[in-house]
Amino acid sequence: MSLRTPLALLLVLVPAFAFAQAPAPDADPRVTQLVAAVSQDRLQSLAKTLVSFGTRETMSNTTSPTRGIGAARQWILDELKRSSPRLQVSFDTHVIAPQGRISRQTELRNVMAVLPGRTARRIYITGHYDSLNLGAGGQQARNTGGAATNPQEAAEFDHDVDANGANDDGSGTVLTMELARIFADSGLQFDATLVFICWAGEEQGLIGSSAHAQALKAQKVVVEAMFNNDIVGNSRGGNGVIDAETVRIYSVGPEDSMPRSLARYIARLAAVYVPSHRIRLMAREDRFGRGSDHSSFTRQGFPAAVFREANENFAKQHTAADTIDGVDFSYLAQNARVNAAAAASLALAPPAPSVVNERGANLLSRGPSGYDAELRWNASPGAVAYRVYWRDTWTNDWQHRQAIGNVTSFVLPNVSIDDFVFGVAAVGADGHESLVSAYVSPVRQSSDVKVIK
Ligand SMILES: [Zn+2]
Repeated sequence: MSLRTPLALLLVLVPAFAFAQAPAPDADPRVTQLVAAVSQDRLQSLAKTLVSFGTRETMSNTTSPTRGIGAARQWILDELKRSSPRLQVSFDTHVIAPQGRISRQTELRNVMAVLPGRTARRIYITGHYDSLNLGAGGQQARNTGGAATNPQEAAEFDHDVDANGANDDGSGTVLTMELARIFADSGLQFDATLVFICWAGEEQGLIGSSAHAQALKAQKVVVEAMFNNDIVGNSRGGNGVIDAETVRIYSVGPEDSMPRSLARYIARLAAVYVPSHRIRLMAREDRFGRGSDHSSFTRQGFPAAVFREANENFAKQHTAADTIDGVDFSYLAQNARVNAAAAASLALAPPAPSVVNERGANLLSRGPSGYDAELRWNASPGAVAYRVYWRDTWTNDWQHRQAIGNVTSFVLPNVSIDDFVFGVAAVGADGHESLVSAYVSPVRQSSDVKVIK
């Protein structure tokens, strides 16, 4: 059953069938064309300019026109403006109070480009443009417990020392800038609004993304997905392993969470549009003991996931050695294509259906018989059909699915809601499908019993 099957066929109920993984949808030529527009040469030339500012440390020089974070952010802003008149480009500015590794009050600027869609719901593609040099040892020393306190908190920490940050996270920064250009240039009218952001303050504790995500939550902005890219350009691990054919995607649980739904979605679309690249889904928030800006979004309840290169070189991270010769631009381009394929498909699809009522309770019951699975959901604007998914509880990817028409309920006779996980996705007129919204079993509240003796 193809995702792009005519509606008439979708309306015919097909018997449920099982498969190891959800079958891939057919490619949409418009998305194929967009993915093909990613330019390895442009990624490389953007990176060359980006590292020329010497350092982009969050508290580095803001007045020099050629060196430091001030010059770097101005160039990113100007370059985004030059890429397309369709992009609404601005600084997203926050004045941050001293805290932790922010050792003095700092005016921090994320650089943002918005490509308005038919609706206000947002899909983010991001990387952090700030860089860091912790001195000898860098991240390798911290990984092996070589430094007890963070050198950034010391009064004598030099904020203006060279910090190329070509891979961390120049790679994610230029990927974000290149995708802003190709999405705007595509001429496509997306249903969702795309937001491309280069963050600052990541290296001081996700400061720029936290300030932004907090504001989104306060303003009740709908965020459908956030694709974060941090350290995505190096194909030669510090252990000598070379891998330019895979990428890791981390997403926070529980298993049926929307971040996991987003991760599965990216893997499924990558298989269609970038079959030469393999996605390794990681069932954890991030690498062991480390983090990035996607967590600022998940903390506010927004679905987010992070791309990480297959094998890292820790010895270069957060040192002066994170230079441009350590970036494999052909590999970075592949990672950019995966982002493009999944984000474009999601932006062309209707929003994921809500499967809870206004009080947050699951619209899932045993039906009048007491032994069926009765699924209900709220209609998704723009949907012309839906797909119901289910799987055993002791698995992590969908095993069964059924295409159904433009309805908001469905009954699976004699299927126990105790034994399976269920989800629903919305399908748009041109066949693009939303994230799958799962019915997540609520955590039962309990407290200790009061014991007298
Ligand atoms: Zn980073």
